[in-house]
Amino acid sequence: MKWQVLGRDVLDFIFPPLCFNCGQRLYAPERDLCLSCWSELPRTDFEKFRENPVYRSFVGRFPLEYAASWLHFQKGGLVQDLMHAFKYRNRPDLARQLGKTLAQEWREAPILSAPDLIVPVPLHPRKRRKRGYNQAEAIARGIAEVLNKPLVLDALERKVYKNSQTREQRFNRWEQVKAVFALSRPEALQDQHVLLVDDVITTGATLEACLQVMQEAKGSRFSVLSLARA
Ligand SMILES: [Zn+2]
Repeated sequence: MKWQVLGRDVLDFIFPPLCFNCGQRLYAPERDLCLSCWSELPRTDFEKFRENPVYRSFVGRFPLEYAASWLHFQKGGLVQDLMHAFKYRNRPDLARQLGKTLAQEWREAPILSAPDLIVPVPLHPRKRRKRGYNQAEAIARGIAEVLNKPLVLDALERKVYKNSQTREQRFNRWEQVKAVFALSRPEALQDQHVLLVDDVITTGATLEACLQVMQEAKGSRFSVLSLARA
């Protein structure tokens, strides 16, 4: 252990960790972003209001316990840069750290304290192999670690391979929805309050498609959470 810590110190000396956003040298306990850049992330404060815009966008589509996004997504902004890095530049560690920070800030909020377990929106296995990880899973892992709640990865699966451009297109028919996701282990979600996690909400169609198939699990209730809202 001592040698590992020493090794890290030596590495930090040779390659000083820099803020992802402003490039300033980072000092422990700073991770990925300096404290000033962390504090500048555009929080929504949606955890304070059950009937926030994300929750309201699901009314009439699917009955949810809670719904919220942590950050506002703005074109050309820091949140877009972060999401681009963890989606396309092999930074699952960044997604996980953002999930951890989200959970530390919202630990007491009902949307995080009420659910029993966490399910990330799955990628198609082929896409997951191509990218090497699922960014929604990395965010969910960070949240699960802080809350000490189970992360369930084998209950919901994506059966249809779609590229990211078409990912959020609204699904018109139930048959199409059913074809995209499948609930392979309904018993894993039975009688549980499930927190469904994704990286970004735009129309909410992807989350709605997941929820529609997950409700096959008897006695389950659902909340949804995304890192950002476009
Ligand atoms: Zn910074």
